[in-house]
Amino acid sequence: MNDALRNELTLLRDLGFTHLDVPKITAAPAAEDANGKTLLADLQAIAMICEKCKLSKTRTQVVYGVGSPNADLMFIGEAPGRDEDIKGEPFVGRAGQLLTDIIKAMKLTRDNVYIANVVKCRPPENRNPEPDELDACRPYIRRQVEIIQPKVIVTLGKFALQSLTEKSYGITATRGQWLEYNGVKVMPTYHPAYLLRTPSAKKDVWADMKKVMAELGMAG
Ligand code: URA
Repeated sequence: MNDALRNELTLLRDLGFTHLDVPKITAAPAAEDANGKTLLADLQAIAMICEKCKLSKTRTQVVYGVGSPNADLMFIGEAPGRDEDIKGEPFVGRAGQLLTDIIKAMKLTRDNVYIANVVKCRPPENRNPEPDELDACRPYIRRQVEIIQPKVIVTLGKFALQSLTEKSYGITATRGQWLEYNGVKVMPTYHPAYLLRTPSAKKDVWADMKKVMAELGMAG
């Protein structure tokens, strides 16, 4: 069995699948597999019908992720809020506008980075995601990282960092310091929603983004 197939089967097992209906293969795999687009779309198809946790009962839409399958830079947030749940796209509300401004200030666009959350469905009343929800959803974000293979991941807030890495890092102790997840450099920074409440912390986030730009060889 090759590694890609093994990874795919491991993911499905982690997602709780116990059997597979395998359709007859009538065509060769698409060439675009190479850039991850098809792999991301396949994973999205699984996520869209996911009922692994109780959030599936209250969501309007699964908020899977947007951006380039070839992105060098991935932003990972916590969970969709009301606006995201309605639109089906991560970071489109007030905090999302701030993230978009940060991306623009880095001379990038939402199209040439990738944006996703560690939890794909909105927790009711925007409460914090619960441990069983983080556990159920973790295979999706981890597989997205595997497919995209970014050079740098920016985690936004405590839940994104802790859930991706499954470590109990504190945000104050780690913010602005390089960590690693599966060979990918990780820059933990504050969540944009925190910046809306605490604008004085924007300068810290900008200092973190300068480190990211330097790592990616972008002019600061
Ligand atoms: N906050 C997040 O963590 N993710 C979103 O998509 C929106 C707000």
